[in-house]
Amino acid sequence: MSISNNFQLIKSQIPEPVELVAVSKFHPVEKIKEVYDCGQRVFGENKVQELLSKVNELPSDIKWHLIGHLQTNKVKFIVPFIDTIQSVDSEKLLLEIDKEAAKINKKVNVLLQVKIAEEDTKYGLEVQEAKEIFSNYLENKYPNITITGLMGMATFTDNKNQVKSEFLILKSLFDELSKFKNLEKLSMGMSDDFKIAIECGANSVRIGSAIFGVRNY
Ligand SMILES: *Cc1c(COP(=O)(O)O)cnc(C)c1O
Repeated sequence: MSISNNFQLIKSQIPEPVELVAVSKFHPVEKIKEVYDCGQRVFGENKVQELLSKVNELPSDIKWHLIGHLQTNKVKFIVPFIDTIQSVDSEKLLLEIDKEAAKINKKVNVLLQVKIAEEDTKYGLEVQEAKEIFSNYLENKYPNITITGLMGMATFTDNKNQVKSEFLILKSLFDELSKFKNLEKLSMGMSDDFKIAIECGANSVRIGSAIFGVRNY
C-alpha cells in the first residue's frame, strides 16, 4: 500500500477528537510531504539532528513535536520553532527549556514523559517526580513553560492486559493532576497499541510505522 493509503486507513481508525502525531523519524522529507499533502500537519521526530535537517525542507505550517530523549545542550536549537516537546524526562531538562524560551520570549508546550513500562530502557519520570514537577509548575517555577499534558510508552509486549494496565496508570495520573489545572493532552499509543491506548483515554497518539512502513534502523 502507498503511504497515503496507509495514512487514510489509520486516520479512519482514530476518532475525531484524538490528535494524530505522524512519527516521521528515519523517513525522508519526500515521504513526509506525501502525508502532509493528505492534510496532516502534526509530525513527530525523536532526534534533534534529524529534525533540524528536515524543518527547513518542509512547509512552515507543520507543527513539530519532539518525542525522543532530549539532551540539555540541544534544547536551544529547537526551542525557536518547536510546537511541543513531548519527552520531558527530568526537571533539569525542563529548567533548560524554560531558560531558552525566556531568552526569546516564547512559551513552550511540553508533556511530562512518565515511565509506565516495566523495561528500564525507557526514559521517563517516576510518577512521584512528575507530581513534584507539576506542583512546582502550579507555583509558577517555570514561567516560560506550558505543561499541556502527559506522555508515556507501554512495555513492548503482546500481553494486552499489561499494556492496558500501564496506560491506565498514566490515565489516572492525568485525571489526578487535571483536578489542579486543566491538562489537554494524554499522549499514549503507537502503531501496535494505539487502539488500547484510546480505550484507556489517550487523546493523542504517535504513529510511525503503520503510516510510513517499517524503518531501517
Ligand atoms: C518511534 C516512536 C513512536 C512511533 O512508533 P511506531 O511503532 O512506529 O508507531 C512513538 N513514540 C515514540 C516515543 C517513538 O520513539
